[in-house]
Amino acid sequence: MSTVEVSDRDFALTVPVLVIGAGAAGLVAALSAHEAGAEVLVLERDSLPRGSTALSAGLVPAAGTRWQREAGIEDAPAGFAADIMAKAHDEPDPALIATVTGAVGPALEWLGEAHGLPFSVVDNFRYPGHSAYRMHGLPSRSGEELIDRLRQAAEAAGIDMICDAHVTTLVAAPDGRVRGVVAGRPDGTAEEIGCETLILACNGYGGNRALVARHIPELADALYFGHPGNQGDALLWGEALGATVRDLSGHQGHGSVAHPAGILLTWATVMEGGFQVNASGERFSNEATGYSEQAARVLEQQDGVAWTIFDARIADIAGQFEDYRNAVAAGAVVEGDTVAALAEAAHLPPDALERTAAAVDAAKRGERADTFGRAFAGVAPLAAPFRAVRVTGALFHTQGGLVVDGDAHVTRADGTLLPNLYAAGGAACGVSGRSAAGYLSGNGLLTAVALGRLAGLAAARQARA
Ligand SMILES: Cc1cc2nc3c(=O)[nH]c(=O)nc-3n(C[C@H](O)[C@H](O)[C@H](O)COP(=O)(O)OP(=O)(O)OC[C@H]3O[C@@H](n4cnc5c(N)ncnc54)[C@H](O)[C@@H]3O)c2cc1C
Repeated sequence: MSTVEVSDRDFALTVPVLVIGAGAAGLVAALSAHEAGAEVLVLERDSLPRGSTALSAGLVPAAGTRWQREAGIEDAPAGFAADIMAKAHDEPDPALIATVTGAVGPALEWLGEAHGLPFSVVDNFRYPGHSAYRMHGLPSRSGEELIDRLRQAAEAAGIDMICDAHVTTLVAAPDGRVRGVVAGRPDGTAEEIGCETLILACNGYGGNRALVARHIPELADALYFGHPGNQGDALLWGEALGATVRDLSGHQGHGSVAHPAGILLTWATVMEGGFQVNASGERFSNEATGYSEQAARVLEQQDGVAWTIFDARIADIAGQFEDYRNAVAAGAVVEGDTVAALAEAAHLPPDALERTAAAVDAAKRGERADTFGRAFAGVAPLAAPFRAVRVTGALFHTQGGLVVDGDAHVTRADGTLLPNLYAAGGAACGVSGRSAAGYLSGNGLLTAVALGRLAGLAAARQARA
């Protein structure tokens, strides 16, 4: 239970910069504050830092980087900002978009140069909505590698971190200045630590059923695919301190999680020419608008499930992803030499699936417009043997949160700043607007890295002043 205790009490130990959460946002903030000369302590509730960062593909979007230049890719923060705004239908704060798109490239270059993170740009697959190749990843293209390398960099820098420390209480003076925190330990004891500045890097509220039901009711019963420790503590503390909060309905969903296997089925299965049907064998949407908004559409179907239909050619493309290979091993991918045989294997009505597949083929040949407005013309028709995977919609992470300024400093409704409170990553309001449809691939790690960097530098400046 997260609470705020209003008190002027002193603490036996006070650190200049205290960070709650050791995901990408917290570790980037800690490295930045340390580099700026401040003593830093990180508190993490798990015994090993992982967070949602470890569950992600670890791909961070950035424009105008040295890796893009080396690959001959022309890109600039302004174009990146325009792509974010277009996907989110002008809903996010343009100043925040300018801040994070301007900060993320230099932050990645600093992580490369100062801490040896060997980023490279993904230049063989353009993520939907991005006008340039700008996803940067580590060699394995995994979030596990990102979190491990950030943790190793923090350890090498000598940054203090206490794991198994679940912060439950913020202690704040009546003027809103945070004086310290109380953290529970596994043996039932409590750690009390004072701070001159506090950075909230404990992500959003995806793991808190009640908060999801309140703010994202369409996903109230959806599978949560993010880190379970993200219980909305930053949001609850911030609200109690009078912080401005925004876009709490914004989130990243995903309409293609193999069910019941619980394995992500790459969206390449759809983008390369596949489609989704419900239990009646009928399509129900324009799947190509995005995987995030597709989560709620799938959940609206009977039993909250759909089938993604594709073929062997697309299965070969999907096979480069470990998740797909795991889905095959788990028996989640069914096969058929004809559409009717596939329908039998997937327990779908054969006649209806044949009609649906024929209509998609006709749209691909340009003979008819797609009922749902999907641009199918020119896309390769599916060819035998066919594949189907039963999927459901899931919540990956929340995008609303505490409103911050250009230094990641948390603001109040009257425009003033909470005296010494900063927020980064999923703890802060992101740049995806108010709905799942506003999420552009990479928006999650974008604000983790960019706001983490800005928060760490600004908190260190304030603590030194
Ligand atoms: C399956 C999946 C795939 C994704 N793929 C991508 C992708 O490819 N690209 C992208 O940009 N984004 C992606 N995302 C989103 C991305 O993972 C997150 O936006 C990002 O990792 C958020 O970083 P963070 O540091 O804010 O949070 P986290 O990495 O979740 O770290 C928060 C940390 O805070 C700790 N914590 C929470 N509460 C407390 C407390 N009270 N006391 C102490 N510690 C606490 C948690 O244990 C956790 O370690 C994906 C998400 C999921 C779930």
